[in-house]
Amino acid sequence: MPLSLLPLQAMYEPVIGLEIHAQLLTDTKIFCGCSTRFGAPPNTNICPVCLGLPGALPVLNRRAVEFAARAAMALGCTIQPSSIFARKNYFYPDLPKGYQISQYERPLATEGALEYTGPDGAARVGIIRVHLEEDAGKSLHEGFADSERFTYLDYNRSGVPLIEIVTHPDLRSAAAAAEFFTRLRAILVAIGVNDGNMEEGSLRCDANVSVRPAGETALGVKTEVKNLNSFRHVQRALEHEIDRQIAALGAGNRVAQETRLWDAAAGRTVAMRSKEEADDYRYFPEPDLLPLEVDAAWIGRMRATLPELPDARRRRFATEYHLPDYDAGVLTQSMALADYFEKTAAAAGNAKAASNWIMVELTRKMNELGIAVEQVTLAPDALAELIALVDRGEISGPVAKDVFEKMFASGRRASAIVEAEGLRRIDDEGAIAAVVADIIDANAGPVAQFRAGRTQTFGFLVGQVMKATRGKANPETVNTILRRALTGQEHTGD
Ligand code: ADP
Ligand code: MG
Ligand code: ZN
Repeated sequence: MPLSLLPLQAMYEPVIGLEIHAQLLTDTKIFCGCSTRFGAPPNTNICPVCLGLPGALPVLNRRAVEFAARAAMALGCTIQPSSIFARKNYFYPDLPKGYQISQYERPLATEGALEYTGPDGAARVGIIRVHLEEDAGKSLHEGFADSERFTYLDYNRSGVPLIEIVTHPDLRSAAAAAEFFTRLRAILVAIGVNDGNMEEGSLRCDANVSVRPAGETALGVKTEVKNLNSFRHVQRALEHEIDRQIAALGAGNRVAQETRLWDAAAGRTVAMRSKEEADDYRYFPEPDLLPLEVDAAWIGRMRATLPELPDARRRRFATEYHLPDYDAGVLTQSMALADYFEKTAAAAGNAKAASNWIMVELTRKMNELGIAVEQVTLAPDALAELIALVDRGEISGPVAKDVFEKMFASGRRASAIVEAEGLRRIDDEGAIAAVVADIIDANAGPVAQFRAGRTQTFGFLVGQVMKATRGKANPETVNTILRRALTGQEHTGD
């Protein structure tokens, strides 16, 4: 951010509301039986309905309604007993019918909220609505020999079911918006309605943002930044847009209500169309579809299938396993990671150790290999066995880390590695005392320094003993014996 913006920034408060489109994980499209598979050869998953050919009639996919309802419930929304599909008319080559079937005045679900504990503490973001709609096809502007002159169209995506989730303008910073988006993604993935794959466009976000003088309660004029398909883009686009609006207001100008596009390469938003040019969608009820009616019993059955949601799980981890809030938050960021933790903790009988191993060593390993927890080959009960070996004092901490590496690389069990390589912890005082004596003999300088009062050399000497035992010596015993040897009369160095 330019320095000149600093004082101004403090004078304004950003206000953000998000509109999120999530593709539902149904096998078939929302109004026809065509496959929704991503990556199929262009224009192979199409039929008269999703191509909008005259006379083709849409038939609502029950599964899409179930998934949409699950998402709405997970967001605490009220499912409306009756909702209505509408035609949203606009003209674009990737929209063959000339309208998109969506829900407008009467959406499937209304008024809910997502509550969670973020980096800044408790957060609550209100949800205005969740509605069902169909996706459009895809215009391909590059990648072909004659892309300079032609746009190619792929209608495989046409008619893929989406939900649109609209939040209240409850977010107050770019970082908070990105955080909310990650939480929302985790929930949609956890309940199995969306694959969370932002690169393939299964989850996209439009961000509405305005700024207002600090302390003001009325909302400022907003702009809408379209099609942000990663957390990072959400954050950077909003940071840029907030700065741009503050700079405009600070210079005495006005913010124009408009739709803008995020240019990730240039790191800025650019105007796309103004309010005046905004499309008039001429919504009207879809005459080919009946109102969508859901009965209370069906809603009840749907609700019963919802799994424990991330925030509830986080709270349970803190109470049931007595984990620090920090651990509980990290472990419930993905349901797969939380599952991995619960299995490990149960098998190891030591939740805090399981948490530490997963948050530190396993996470480091996953980053190193660039894999998600789903791809980790080390089974939770194998990690639990390693933890139990440490807890029973059979191996030392440093050796355990080494064994962990070897388990990962070889797929062998911890106990097998410990046996085969003779890695058992050395507790035997006589054995340790012998090594201590050797180290004292070999390090006359540091020993003299220690005795002269430079106690920092103690750590160095401990390290030497540990090294000599290849990390196997019980560190506590080493400490005791070494200290006794250096200060008492039992040492053999003289
Ligand atoms: P529109 O009619 O332009 O689509 P809506 O009232 O439907 O606007 O709101 C769309 C989204 O914009 C919602 O997420 C809402 O929270 C957000 N929003 C509305 N007004 C503002 C504002 N002044 N500043 C920031 N966000 C806003
Ligand atoms: Mg809108
Ligand atoms: Zn079709």
